[in-house]
Amino acid sequence: MGDLRDLYQEVILDHSRKPRNFRPLERADRRVEGFNPLCGDRVTLFVRLENGEVRDISFQGSGCAISTASASMMTEKLKGKTTQEAMRLFDEFHGLVTGKPGGVGNGEELGKLAVFSGVCEFPIRVKCATLAWHALKAALTGGAQSVSTE
Ligand code: ZN
Repeated sequence: MGDLRDLYQEVILDHSRKPRNFRPLERADRRVEGFNPLCGDRVTLFVRLENGEVRDISFQGSGCAISTASASMMTEKLKGKTTQEAMRLFDEFHGLVTGKPGGVGNGEELGKLAVFSGVCEFPIRVKCATLAWHALKAALTGGAQSVSTE
C-alpha cells in the first residue's frame, strides 16, 4: 500500500476545493445521475453534444475529494473531444485507476489525469474516481439515465 497522503496530490486537492465546470448546463442533451453508495458520492453530469463532439460538459453533486476532483478534471479534459475520443479516454482512465491498462495508448493522452494512478492502491477509492466517468459513458452511449457503482 502506498501512503494515503500521496493520493491527495495538490492538483486533486485544488480541484476538490474549486471544482471546474461545477454548474447545471442549460440545453444539455444528456443528463445522467451517478451514485456511489460505498462512499455516498453523488454526481449529476450534463453533456451537450454537437456534431459528434462534446460541445459543453458540466457537473453538480457532492462527494469526497477524489470523486469531486475526478469529475472536475474529467470535464476539463473532455470539452471539445469527439465522443470517440471521450470513450477512448474512459478506457485509458479506467485502466489507470484499476491498475489494468486496457486502452490503446500508453496513458500519455490522460495528461494531468495521471495523478489518479495512485488510486489503484486503494480499491475502495476506485469507485470514487470512476463515478463521473461511468456517468459519462452512460451519457455518450445514450443508455441509462442513472448509474450506480454497486
Ligand atoms: Zn468517494
